Amino acid sequence: MKVVIVGGGAAGASCATRLRRLDEKAEIMLLEKTAEHSVSTCGLPYYVGGVVEDRADMISATPLMFDKFFNIDVRTNTEVVSIDRKNKSVLTDTNEQIKYDKLVLATGSRVVLPKINGMENLP
Ligand SMILES: Cc1cc2nc3c(=O)[nH]c(=O)nc-3n(C[C@H](O)[C@H](O)[C@H](O)COP(=O)(O)OP(=O)(O)OC[C@H]3O[C@@H](n4cnc5c(N)ncnc54)[C@H](O)[C@@H]3O)c2cc1C
Repeated sequence: MKVVIVGGGAAGASCATRLRRLDEKAEIMLLEKTAEHSVSTCGLPYYVGGVVEDRADMISATPLMFDKFFNIDVRTNTEVVSIDRKNKSVLTDTNEQIKYDKLVLATGSRVVLPKINGMENLP
């Protein structure tokens, strides 16, 4: 079984490693549009505030680690631009078509701003 996971944040990376623990034989591929995956988003305030000084400390895993320890194929700088559910494949921004048996979308979410009078005047 081939599982393609879109998004290498906390959800995508956790899903990938958990899946490996559940299934040693599955082919697992993680597609992340930025240059890095497993970035500690929660640690950002500490990095900005100077508590964490080294940028490298913000990254908990690399594609090489995922490959070596979990046999997970991570592709960074790879954005999924469309999904063909009928043929079970995704298309990347590099025009590569990647087939899957199972697809996981772990692309994060957007902030929802409540409708409160005066919100529009905030900086
Ligand atoms: C400043 C800050 C502090 C926080 N502090 C805490 C905390 O203390 N405790 C806590 O529990 N939570 C905290 N959070 C929230 C936590 O970071 C998020 O809940 C978590 O990062 C969500 O993970 P995710 O994988 O769902 O999404 P994301 O982290 O948003 O990851 C989604 C990934 O998908 C990638 N992606 C999106 N679209 C595509 C595409 N089409 N193709 C390929 N890749 C794609 C993105 O580049 C991204 O890497 C904090 C968040 C912020 C911003």
